[in-house]
Amino acid sequence: MQNAVRDVAELARLLDLPEAALGAAGSSAFPLLVPRGFVGRMRKGDPSDPLLLQVLPRLAELSEVAGFVADPVREQGLAAGGVIEKYPGRALLIASGACPIHCRYCFRREFPYAEQLAARGGWDEAVETLRARPSTREAILSGGDPLSLSNRRLGELVAKLEQTSIETLRIHTRYPVVVPERVDDGLLRLLAATRLNTTVVVHCNHPNELDDSTAAALRGLRPRVSALLNQSVLLRGVNDSADTLATLSTRLFACGVLPYYLHLLDPVAGAAHFDVAAHTGLELVAQLRTRLPGYLVPRLVKETPGGLSKTLIG
Ligand code: SF4
Repeated sequence: MQNAVRDVAELARLLDLPEAALGAAGSSAFPLLVPRGFVGRMRKGDPSDPLLLQVLPRLAELSEVAGFVADPVREQGLAAGGVIEKYPGRALLIASGACPIHCRYCFRREFPYAEQLAARGGWDEAVETLRARPSTREAILSGGDPLSLSNRRLGELVAKLEQTSIETLRIHTRYPVVVPERVDDGLLRLLAATRLNTTVVVHCNHPNELDDSTAAALRGLRPRVSALLNQSVLLRGVNDSADTLATLSTRLFACGVLPYYLHLLDPVAGAAHFDVAAHTGLELVAQLRTRLPGYLVPRLVKETPGGLSKTLIG
């Protein structure tokens, strides 16, 4: 991550593009951050590359658009001890504020991580919060990206969770896709050793994100976990075509991953240019159903603030 690209001019050079062709915005509180391996999967000379569009701070981000707000799912301030109990029986831990990549459409791009981290105080407050709610059976590690933590810190947390009523550990991460080297022996040993039933949910939006190195990382994870799933966000100009989504599902499956959710964009400020209408999402999923077996068709969902579950669109 120390070698990640943080400068638009350097990104333009690596992609053989004039900087002006990128239409990049200036400095931002959510700056450019993209690992070199991910840049290596972008098409050179193409300012519309679907991987580039996911990470490039564009001028369109600066436009204020009605309905697009800082906290679209209304979760800021809910994290008691770094734990958000959004849905019954499941608790979400804000395990780390760091990410391997800055996705421009991220609904937590303005999340106040410094105030609401579960890692504060050596996890104790978060674990005590879980102990006080024994009906909670599943701990969801989120962030940021929980695999930003070292294996040692992750291991400390898992050991503490094993002393509670938690039965299932779910890890939401973009690392295996954007920095596949993170899936190292230590992580695999940790996952194999825990008594917790473990699910890993990766985040991949476009088939070009999957190359031989990501495939190897995902295939390494598969035998260590109970389920290996993917969630994508439906993004205009990136993956809003049936061909792209069908190829994504097929390639994920070849890596041992089942497509799980296709999210409609959460209306976060600065991301309106990625928005795809719900009816378009429905049409795309209907096309996928005619082309793929049912287990490769992701469920189209959207987050409803205050809802007891995600809203299934189709
Ligand atoms: S939390 Fe996930 S989606 Fe958001 S910027 Fe980090 S890696 Fe990307």
